[in-house]
Amino acid sequence: MNRHFRHVDWKLKEVPSTVTLVDIACISGKPRCREIPRRSGPLSLADGEAWLLAHFKTTGHRRYEETYSRVVQWDPPDDIDPRTILGVTT
Ligand SMILES: [Zn+2]
Repeated sequence: MNRHFRHVDWKLKEVPSTVTLVDIACISGKPRCREIPRRSGPLSLADGEAWLLAHFKTTGHRRYEETYSRVVQWDPPDDIDPRTILGVTT
């Protein structure tokens, strides 16, 4: 996504040093199973897939709701230091 703000063209980018996380809930069955991983908070993608496979193998449930979270930020062109723009912070 690109936007023009304070006379600068900004791009919305994923912060590369961060990890995409996932929240998972099983939504198979009627009524829905609603089981979630026992660990608190979102999981790494690898841990999420491991839980999905384990739950599938033990229950046969095939349908899940996944909600992803990632860290993004607006970046100016490379030749502009965002700290020099009034009103812009990290
Ligand atoms: Zn289930």
